[in-house]
Amino acid sequence: CGIVGYVGPSSPSSRPLDLTLEGLARLEYRGYDSAGVAVAGAGALAAAKKAGKLANLRGVLEESPLPEGTAAIGHTRWATHGGPTDINAHPHLSEDGRLAVIHNGIIENFAALKAELEAEGVSFSSETDTEAVAHLLSRAYTASGDLSAAMLAVTARLEGAFTLLALHAEQPGTVVAARRNSPLVVGLGEGENFLGSDVAAFISATKEAMEIGQDQVVTLTADAVTVVDAAGQPAEGKRFTVDWDAAA
Ligand code: GLU
Repeated sequence: CGIVGYVGPSSPSSRPLDLTLEGLARLEYRGYDSAGVAVAGAGALAAAKKAGKLANLRGVLEESPLPEGTAAIGHTRWATHGGPTDINAHPHLSEDGRLAVIHNGIIENFAALKAELEAEGVSFSSETDTEAVAHLLSRAYTASGDLSAAMLAVTARLEGAFTLLALHAEQPGTVVAARRNSPLVVGLGEGENFLGSDVAAFISATKEAMEIGQDQVVTLTADAVTVVDAAGQPAEGKRFTVDWDAAA
């Protein structure tokens, strides 16, 4: 029920994973049953997830810390498809473990997509609707070599409501996101950028924000925010400044 994304430098004072966990903590008020994170850096991707409160996830991360990276995504889940278990928690990974996706919402046509993927030999490890998106994105990425193009191709096939964030080991300085009937906001930093299901995700870091429109796809790097519409044409998000008093 909460989504956070971060791209920026990794330094002792600004660690992508810590910033992502902080963002998730500020979204806790929305309620959730499980939590997870993924981080990409130096051509590798790592993830951790756990049913229950954020404290459970923090416990997992203390026991087996993830490597540092330059981009991270974080999720708190409110289960709709599949019970609130460790395996059903997000992120969901591609079979090769190189791509991670988090999702708020419901993919209405996931059963048909899952059947199609299974017929092609893909094996699912969770009961979620979201996992179908991870496998579709992975295939589309293999075809195009570009995560933004993959997101455009896949969202064209989805029905329902989604805020989706994706991370790939081969693009460790990039987070790609898309939305339909579900909110997505960019937080604009200096040499770093944020994503959130609402501004609470990044409010302590920046008050410069951009609302992503229906069916837009946004590609985030540390220095750039690129928005396209469903046809892949350049688009503009709606810029605004967060009113700290209202958001506090
Ligand atoms: N439908 C997805 C699931 O059940 C996402 C739920 C959510 O919005 O947190 O895993």
